[in-house]
Amino acid sequence: MPDTVIVDGATVDTRHWIGGRRVASARTFTDISPIDEQPLAEVAAGGAAEVAQAVEAAQHAFAGWAAMPRDERAGILHRVADGIDKRAEELAVVETRDNGSLLRSHRRSVMPRVGMNFRFFADMLRDLSHPDREIRGHRERITWDPAGVTAVITPWNAPLMLATWRIGPALAAGNTVVAKPPEWAPLTASLLADITVQAGLPPGVFNVVQGLGPEAGAALSAHPGIRRMSFTGSVPTAGLIAAAAAPNIVPVSFELGGKSALLVFADADFDLAVRLAVEQFDNAGQVCLGAFRILVQEQLAGEFLAAVLERARAVVQGDPRDPATEVSCLVSRAHFERVDGFVQRALAAGATAALGGGPNRELGGLFYQPTILTPVPPGSEIVTEEVFGPVLTVQTFRDEDQAVAMANDTRFGLAATMVTGDPDRAERVSARLRAGTVWVNCFFVRDLGAPFGGSGRSGIGREGGTHSFDFYCDIKNTVFAPGGWTAPGKG
Ligand code: NAD
Repeated sequence: MPDTVIVDGATVDTRHWIGGRRVASARTFTDISPIDEQPLAEVAAGGAAEVAQAVEAAQHAFAGWAAMPRDERAGILHRVADGIDKRAEELAVVETRDNGSLLRSHRRSVMPRVGMNFRFFADMLRDLSHPDREIRGHRERITWDPAGVTAVITPWNAPLMLATWRIGPALAAGNTVVAKPPEWAPLTASLLADITVQAGLPPGVFNVVQGLGPEAGAALSAHPGIRRMSFTGSVPTAGLIAAAAAPNIVPVSFELGGKSALLVFADADFDLAVRLAVEQFDNAGQVCLGAFRILVQEQLAGEFLAAVLERARAVVQGDPRDPATEVSCLVSRAHFERVDGFVQRALAAGATAALGGGPNRELGGLFYQPTILTPVPPGSEIVTEEVFGPVLTVQTFRDEDQAVAMANDTRFGLAATMVTGDPDRAERVSARLRAGTVWVNCFFVRDLGAPFGGSGRSGIGREGGTHSFDFYCDIKNTVFAPGGWTAPGKG
């Protein structure tokens, strides 16, 4: 089996990256492009042996990386960011073939953000400090010490962006990393490994073990050498990872699914509300933060739905490499069947498809029609479970209390979005919404310094800004006795 594959002109190594060198496995798995469902690459399928090798390499590299002066460490991470910017086009093209997301989005927003994930935390590292505190004449010093080897397991919907959003701060904190990319889109992680070499990252500081979740992912989660576990993905997988990591008492950061609401009040900016509703079809609905439950105040419902349908009917679906395309395909045949299963069960349970409601027969393959279901049976699966596809439900509410109750009626709590023209209402309602992020009259605006994460089944912990350093470090308090240091035996 060849060790590399050429994807639209970019050469990608399909082996693991361990201890600063490429490592093959006896077995491979087939990486399929969702655009045409054709095989893209045969990728090394790692397991317990490769994970053990990678963790050992990361442990070996840890002392040197953790002890490196902050400026030097930050300088290397800046060079990683520069390398990402330099190869952004290659990364965008490969990621598009691998996960089917829009090439235009990869170019415009995703890859620039990948570079930022390194640059931002490198800059924070330079500034990270905490003033000493005085307590009854004693001096307390708080320091952030690197925790050790960090496992980063991530999903396919924005593979490189989601991975580097953890890898960046983990490395900045002084940890070493073993990343397990998603088997549905594993290729850009391998390009990142190449970039880190050119940036001068020492061998073993960053490692990639490719493979399937139940094999490579499970082995990594259970490895006793891991000191931090950062996982982004689904709730059932999080449960397995939590159970595997628990015996080793490993702190976990989980960013999981969502079933977020978009609340549209009668006093809303109408055009904004319509635009935000249709925006939920972005990335074919494969967005954890997506506001797929649209809740609209009764008196506006008819007019609002008509306008959303008009806009949604005009959405262009097609090949993600075509600049005109707004909605592309789903990531895999299994995911396609899962999404369709949700929709067909909802229709059988009494929901009505105001738009779509099944596969896009014209385009075929993994293209699923943008779908709007309304009315939907309250409390049914389609309004409680995460679909992770281009499927919106529309429900109505009477007043503020009912709107908040409906928005919060979910086991998830990742995000909520509201549109209102009343600033007092914005304050009242946003305070009552149970979610890690609440957007008022906007959507998807987020700074890397802000805390990000979910309540309920949407996750454990927050990352972003100092929250990331808090998670990736062992925070230490050193208390100095009054009058400075006292030698043992003399005080
Ligand atoms: P998934 O849970 O199936 O897989 C995620 C990762 O976990 C993959 O790398 C997979 O190989 C690995 N994995 C699978 N089984 C494993 C096991 N037994 N042990 C260890 N690792 C294992 O999720 P997915 O289908 O790839 O992604 C979609 C999910 O991710 C959705 O629920 C979505 O909401 C969520 N997501 C959350 C965020 C967020 O920031 N909150 C962002 C993007 C996606």
